[in-house]
Amino acid sequence: MQIAIVGGGIGGLTAAIALQQRGFSVRVYEAAAAWQPVGKGIWLPTNALQALDRLGLSAPLTRRGCALAKIEILDCRDGLLQQVDLRLIAEWLGHTTLSIRRADLHQVLRDHLLPGTCQLDRRCTGFTQDDQHVTIHFADGSKTVADLLIGADGLHSIIRQTLFPGIAVRYSGQTCLRGIASFTLPPPLAHTCQEWWDGKHRFGFSAIDECYVYWFAPILAPAGGNEPLETLQLEKRYAAFPQPVPTLLHHTPSAEIIRTDLYELPPLPRWWQRRVVLLGDAAHAMTPNLGQGGAQAIEDAVVLADYISQLPLFEALPAYEQARRPRVERIARTARLFGQIAHIRSGHLQWLRNRILRLTPAWLSQRQLNWLYRFRE
Ligand SMILES: Cc1cc2nc3c(=O)[nH]c(=O)nc-3n(C[C@H](O)[C@H](O)[C@H](O)COP(=O)(O)OP(=O)(O)OC[C@H]3O[C@@H](n4cnc5c(N)ncnc54)[C@H](O)[C@@H]3O)c2cc1C
Repeated sequence: MQIAIVGGGIGGLTAAIALQQRGFSVRVYEAAAAWQPVGKGIWLPTNALQALDRLGLSAPLTRRGCALAKIEILDCRDGLLQQVDLRLIAEWLGHTTLSIRRADLHQVLRDHLLPGTCQLDRRCTGFTQDDQHVTIHFADGSKTVADLLIGADGLHSIIRQTLFPGIAVRYSGQTCLRGIASFTLPPPLAHTCQEWWDGKHRFGFSAIDECYVYWFAPILAPAGGNEPLETLQLEKRYAAFPQPVPTLLHHTPSAEIIRTDLYELPPLPRWWQRRVVLLGDAAHAMTPNLGQGGAQAIEDAVVLADYISQLPLFEALPAYEQARRPRVERIARTARLFGQIAHIRSGHLQWLRNRILRLTPAWLSQRQLNWLYRFRE
């Protein structure tokens, strides 16, 4: 079977590796003219690493990233609200969460593909299909024929728009700034992910190695803002946040800071149609509040490859959707809710939220995370 994957992001590359390991012939068509992973850093949670274990990838990734020991959620006024001990999760499930540069993640994925798998500068513009084949069209006027097309082309997927033209992405009300600071965190924070809240702003960070710290800062703002970064006055906005937040901003060159409006996709009627199937953000883009979008793309890729190798194609695609959809939709709902809770503006509600979070026993929070962090094949 000839398999074409449109999109060489996290999901597309992982799917290509998983399918090649099962003996399929795969081509990845990527629109970008050069590899430039967008997004600075990423957290690969336990479930993503469990799925990557199946492809022999967790060890090379772990060598490049920073294994986190705990996650702390803090309020600028009330201090520590919640703490998750990731070492306990590692004891149960075999992995903690890895904080890593996106460029390193992509490099490791590409290193595990057969030479010549990926073609750059191949922007897909649409496809046609019949009972035998699917024909994929590109912006340069060329086309290619495959037995199966996997749409892994992200949030604004052309494959999804061709399948479901009426479905539009929804703006979350938040835009997110991200950067990498050249800074060494003090020893107590060297393996900690902290996220600070003040109602209007949030700021999260963790080391990606000894000398650099990945940070993200979601703020409430209208979509499409493209004012120069200086106008956002980041250092001023976060001046009242506790250290090391102001220091991290100070140590990040502003040319290196990127801004991304946060969108999510309403549930699709289906994730597949005849010889075309979607995965990752193309199928179920979610807000990044739980750091799970990329992890779910990885889980999709591994599960889809399993079904394709075990069942006839027309059974494999519905089986994949059935296996993945309930989990993905639950995670997307939880991520949306987490974002709303984090950005509560009313002082009274913030007080109430903070009390509830502080009084929630650690064992209960850990147990809730168990379902999130467990990859079910
Ligand atoms: C602020 C922020 C923080 C995040 N943090 C985390 C985190 O910590 N952990 C986590 O797991 N997830 C995180 N995510 C989510 C994660 O980045 C995405 O869910 C993940 O990148 C989705 O992977 P994908 O392969 O589906 O899509 P993408 O990574 O978007 O890849 C799609 C690829 O398709 C290509 N493409 C697009 N259109 C075409 C076309 N027409 N033809 C050919 N190629 C095309 C693109 O160039 C791109 O390379 C975060 C997201 C944001 C916005």
